[in-house]
Amino acid sequence: MPDEAPGDLAGPSRPGPLATAQAQLASAISQLGYDEGMHAMLATPRREINVAIPLRRDDGRTELFHGFRVQHNVSRGPGKGGLRFHPSVDVDEVRALAMWMTWKCAVVELPYGGAKGGVAIDPRYYSAGELERVTRRYTSEIMPMIGPERDIMAPDIGTDAATMAWVMDTYSVNRGYTIPGVVTGKPLEVGGSLGRATATSRGVVHSTRAALAEGGRKLDEVSVAVQGFGKVGAHAADFFDDAGARVEAVSDQYGAIHSSRGLHVQRVMEHVRETGSVVGYPDADPIDNAQLLALDVDVLVPAAVEGVLTADNAGDVRARWVVEGANGPTTPDADAILADRGVVVVPDILANAGGVVVSYFEWVQAQQAYWWTEPEIEARLAERMQIAYDAVAQMARTRDVSLRDGALLIGVQRVATAHRTRGLYP
Ligand code: NAD
Repeated sequence: MPDEAPGDLAGPSRPGPLATAQAQLASAISQLGYDEGMHAMLATPRREINVAIPLRRDDGRTELFHGFRVQHNVSRGPGKGGLRFHPSVDVDEVRALAMWMTWKCAVVELPYGGAKGGVAIDPRYYSAGELERVTRRYTSEIMPMIGPERDIMAPDIGTDAATMAWVMDTYSVNRGYTIPGVVTGKPLEVGGSLGRATATSRGVVHSTRAALAEGGRKLDEVSVAVQGFGKVGAHAADFFDDAGARVEAVSDQYGAIHSSRGLHVQRVMEHVRETGSVVGYPDADPIDNAQLLALDVDVLVPAAVEGVLTADNAGDVRARWVVEGANGPTTPDADAILADRGVVVVPDILANAGGVVVSYFEWVQAQQAYWWTEPEIEARLAERMQIAYDAVAQMARTRDVSLRDGALLIGVQRVATAHRTRGLYP
């Protein structure tokens, strides 16, 4: 891993994700003509918990971390959402991510609400044993809130299948029996699903294909730049490469690489396995993340962190399609600038929904203790993504709005309908 001081990950000025999420909701509420009471209910998390996590370090010292779990909405089913380990995590970021999960699950018609969790820690500076202790303590602190019928976790930035195995084990040991449905994205050996690790990235490619088709283009004719080379970005780049697209640039938090001839993505992955970064890959030119966002490519896929496309740089984007692999990469001001310039933005709550769709398949399989084949999962994922894309595109056409507004209108409307149908207790 290249040298870097802890805390440098977030990049330049990131406008608050909660402000972005709230502005998007306010716009949807006004377009749908809902009243202030419904707005207040949908703007406010249903439950949240804030926990202190003491860690005994390997050298015997004790260190304290702060963790959060937010259930934004549980009207359509249990809360669903990832667990993030990143030094800049705070409760407002987790609230925004939980709200986006609510709309996303509604857009792809899953019987879930939206939730998210986070711990303010930089996992790069802790051993596997330390991360396991942090995960187990966090899980035991939030135990009353989670469960297969209450709130189901999955990996996000800085966490992975191993983290999910620790959550599942801690929860199960405390309940006295094995409960795989409390998490998704877990290893196959303990009830994970085939196809889950790559599902978000496959979904990004499915939604890109659908968006290109509307413009009369195909994947094998376009050039692509992908920001972020983690669980979402690396596989997305690989699937774009497989589908015949020319992947010209990829990046991570340490820097970016570019080749106008196209990168051999599998070789870049190998370089990352060996060195910990895309930086230094021999068959490409070094560039930085700002340059990557402004490249003259057809498709730009931000797949790293929130708030990377802002009013300051949206005017530099030359791609015709922006497909949001990350959650919340585009601020509302940047959205307006991109729309004015005719850039089609495929929004996060649609574009990266493949992960939660296959998480749902994993949860269904775990509840039934019956396993599906990979082709079955991939076919069902492709079908769900296409249905969701078509519904969003139809809404956008009918209302003459962007795909983001189309997706938000569908998501917010479905959640509001669930509220109205259930009625208000007492
Ligand atoms: P990850 O930790 O596996 O990868 C994140 C990548 O982004 C890494 O390559 C990291 O180096 C890079 N990065 C971090 N800060 C950066 C910066 N400032 N500039 C450029 N690159 C930077 O995380 P992930 O699971 O791939 O998640 C990426 C995004 O996708 C997040 O917004 C996440 O919420 C979203 N998402 C993830 C999933 C999933 O299934 N993992 C599902 C839906 C959405």
